Amino acid sequence: MNFDLNEEQRMWRKAVHDFVAQEVQPFAAEFSERGELNWPALRKMGPMGILGITTPEKYGGSGVDAICAAIAIEELGWADGGTALTVAAHTGLGCAPIAKFGIHEQKQQYLTRAVSGESKLAALALTEPGAGSDLQAVRTRAKLDGGIWVINGSKAWITNAGDADYIITLAVTQPEGGSDAMSMFIVPTNTPGLHVAPHEKKMGLGSCHSNAITYENVRVPAENLLGEQGYGLQQTLRTLDGGRISIAAISVGIAQSAMEAAIRYAKERQTFGKPIAEHQAIQWMLADAATEIHAARLMVYHAAWLKDQGRSYTKAGAMAKLFASEMGERVTRNAIQIHGGYGYSREYPVERMYRDARLMTVGEGTSEVQRMVIARKVLAAIR
Ligand SMILES: Cc1cc2nc3c(=O)[nH]c(=O)nc-3n(C[C@H](O)[C@H](O)[C@H](O)COP(=O)(O)OP(=O)(O)OC[C@H]3O[C@@H](n4cnc5c(N)ncnc54)[C@H](O)[C@@H]3O)c2cc1C
Repeated sequence: MNFDLNEEQRMWRKAVHDFVAQEVQPFAAEFSERGELNWPALRKMGPMGILGITTPEKYGGSGVDAICAAIAIEELGWADGGTALTVAAHTGLGCAPIAKFGIHEQKQQYLTRAVSGESKLAALALTEPGAGSDLQAVRTRAKLDGGIWVINGSKAWITNAGDADYIITLAVTQPEGGSDAMSMFIVPTNTPGLHVAPHEKKMGLGSCHSNAITYENVRVPAENLLGEQGYGLQQTLRTLDGGRISIAAISVGIAQSAMEAAIRYAKERQTFGKPIAEHQAIQWMLADAATEIHAARLMVYHAAWLKDQGRSYTKAGAMAKLFASEMGERVTRNAIQIHGGYGYSREYPVERMYRDARLMTVGEGTSEVQRMVIARKVLAAIR
């Protein structure tokens, strides 16, 4: 067993780290506060290969392995949670389903542009006002009308929707229900009848946008069906397996950043005649943070490694997401504690990290849903 990253993975980490340390991290507070995407950095991520981490080289992607993809998202999380989520939604939700289930023409048409950094972003619309954890409750409907799919319905909380070229949309194609009731469609955002609402006002992740969408007789050609008709739910579950590794990786990155900020502060701040880093209570919080970050990172890389091996990673991905997202909340909470009153101030980064980390136990499947996925696997394994 070898726990070391290989040469390529180490070089990739250094390249991404150097890039985000220069282009993302110094501007994180500013973009987050203004509620704007860091477009200058996002544009540069095209040529860097970061926007193409889930896309094969043939279509302009970087063709990196799943461990490198997780490393890129982790480093982005270290620099800015909002930018990390923007990129994770673009690569893992907006591009990955086309790379996995699309035909050559769809990959050529949509992926090559999406990964270049020259176009807008990509999004995946699953959640609806009445359907989040329970995707069987999706009501958005797609009906065939003379070779054209006509889509009606509404979606909620769709990351990148207002900044996207296209939105992959999960819709019901067989109203009688059943496991083959839904299909995925590629919906260009300039299609008449597609309305994207203003950005949601969120607790954190200011440099990332989520929007509600309505589909009013949105007409897309038959060739915009993604994968086979009736496979939408299975395609969604496979996509979310990968997405969970990304959310776990963001959590590790944010937690790492919060711990580093807490260590620097603890060495400077004096109470009772010595730096607070010399008080045992502070050391224990830092020791716990370092231990939990290490465990979460190993879980993320293990799930990614299983993916690279072509093995099932549903359970490992759900475990990584569950543990890392809850760890991220604890570590950022304690980073505020170590900063005392200043931790609660917007002058210091840890309150933003706490607000950013908080989403990770909810997005792409709540902690409760992860526990359901894990329990199902655990119960099935032992007879
Ligand atoms: C910032 C942000 C970005 C997002 N981006 C996207 C996106 O890009 N695309 C997209 O499609 N969606 C997106 N979402 C939606 C997100 O995936 C959902 O919010 C999430 O899956 C939970 O769904 P819900 O909000 O409907 O909660 P609900 O499903 O209503 O759940 C409410 C509570 O009940 C619990 N619960 C539900 N069912 C069970 C059960 N069987 N047993 C125990 N507890 C249960 C949940 O865990 C939760 O605590 C985003 C959300 C946010 C906040």
